[in-house]
Amino acid sequence: MIHYSLENLLPVDINGYYGNFGGAYVPESLKRNIAELDSAYRRLVIDPSFMADFDRLMHEYVGRPTPLYRADSLSRRYGAEIYLKREDLNHTGAHKINNAIGLGLLAKRMGKHKIIAETGAGQHGVAAATVAALLGLDCVVYMGAEDVVRQQPNVMRMRMLGAEVVAVSSGCATLNNAVDAALDAWCCDADAFYMIGSAVGPHPYPEMVARFQSVISFEIQHQLEQLIGRRHPDYVIAAIGGGSNAAGAFYHFIEERDVRLIAVEAAGKGVESGMTAASLTVGDVAVLHGAKTMVMTDVDGNAAEAYSISAGLDYPGVGPLLAYLASEGRITVMAADDDEALNAAYLLAGTEGIIPALESSHALAVLEKMNLNPTDVVVLNLSGRGDKDMATYMRYAGGGQE
Ligand SMILES: *Cc1c(COP(=O)(O)O)cnc(C)c1O
Repeated sequence: MIHYSLENLLPVDINGYYGNFGGAYVPESLKRNIAELDSAYRRLVIDPSFMADFDRLMHEYVGRPTPLYRADSLSRRYGAEIYLKREDLNHTGAHKINNAIGLGLLAKRMGKHKIIAETGAGQHGVAAATVAALLGLDCVVYMGAEDVVRQQPNVMRMRMLGAEVVAVSSGCATLNNAVDAALDAWCCDADAFYMIGSAVGPHPYPEMVARFQSVISFEIQHQLEQLIGRRHPDYVIAAIGGGSNAAGAFYHFIEERDVRLIAVEAAGKGVESGMTAASLTVGDVAVLHGAKTMVMTDVDGNAAEAYSISAGLDYPGVGPLLAYLASEGRITVMAADDDEALNAAYLLAGTEGIIPALESSHALAVLEKMNLNPTDVVVLNLSGRGDKDMATYMRYAGGGQE
């Protein structure tokens, strides 16, 4: 069994700033909850018995380590050595469970009885409901009323797992509003633990989420060493919504300057179209959900409505770690639009026999746009599987555009 190291390798200061980004911009009423969480987290993440529980669940329950698969067809097609990190093979079908297990164990150790979570497409809601069921905790998931309608299969999963799904109808009734509702509910409930779904939110959430997701790059290093005799690839590619799978895939390589890190945003209908989720490309510095970060804003300076064909990427902000790494030039930001992602999904299905999540398809799509050399070792984080996206894929195959 792998013993994960969750050591803090992040460029973050004690106030939760990544350069100019991050911090904890929360109302007075939340400060106590956050302080309690922060001290429990710092104590537990170095506690051997906590880590033993984490290691065991990662191994026996989630199914880690996930394979690092050399994709022969993709490698031939793009003229490089392309490896897929198979986060799609995790229990519940995506990387989100890594974080949900870490935070769930924390909630349990803190003596909390209830998990509060938000969800957009329902993937994090399912992961939160799964872990709550596993650990014997109650679970309430806040979800935009629009998304409750659009994502029925995941709503049913959450309910079968015993979670209460609360439809949020404020604002545009999507993820952005669900996060606000979850934070509000946490304010008034000392017995609850807020399980966030990405590397966003007030400090210490982005740090905690990145550390729990760091199992991804921890494994990549060891797997590459076994497969090719060196720990460092030339490229790591990941799609970014809030930035948690990217943070996990990049984590152990941030300080390894010879590894090029490519973060792929959802362009939607095009980065300049007004229907996009490319917050690093078109956003401004603003505070969103408790952190100073890159946010797509409207004329009043409020978070704008994001658009992507992929429900897991249409968030108007991005976590402070990625905002900082982009501002420093440490990561390269690229974008893929709806059609490019759909084409990449069909290519992977047809040539490798893997149906990717629409989110992951955005990462796959940029392989077309890179000038790779035959000796380049490329690791692409396949963040999730495509079952939840079948209706969208079928509409596209039928020639019907969204
Ligand atoms: C939620 C989700 C994402 C986007 O979230 P990040 O926090 O940016 O990783 C990407 N891929 C899949 C499969 C998801 O479910």
